[in-house]
Amino acid sequence: MFRPALICIKRGRGTPFHKIQMATFLYKCPVTGHNVQGLIEGEVKQGADVHEAVVCLACRQTHLVNPSTGAVLGARDRPPRGR
Ligand SMILES: [Zn+2]
Repeated sequence: MFRPALICIKRGRGTPFHKIQMATFLYKCPVTGHNVQGLIEGEVKQGADVHEAVVCLACRQTHLVNPSTGAVLGARDRPPRGR
């Protein structure tokens, strides 16, 4: 009889997956210029100095984004690549 080796993946101590609060926000990918939805655990913290590391769904790079403003740290005011 076949038995799968991995029955389930459990998170370590802490909050179970179904009880984790997630927050979404929008930012503009500095590489592609697309508007991208970011997802972070917990609430969106307010403040100009708050940045979250997110893996971008558009370019697959990591950006530091301020979730409350959508500003990307280090992004320049230049046209996106390929334009
Ligand atoms: Zn990106």
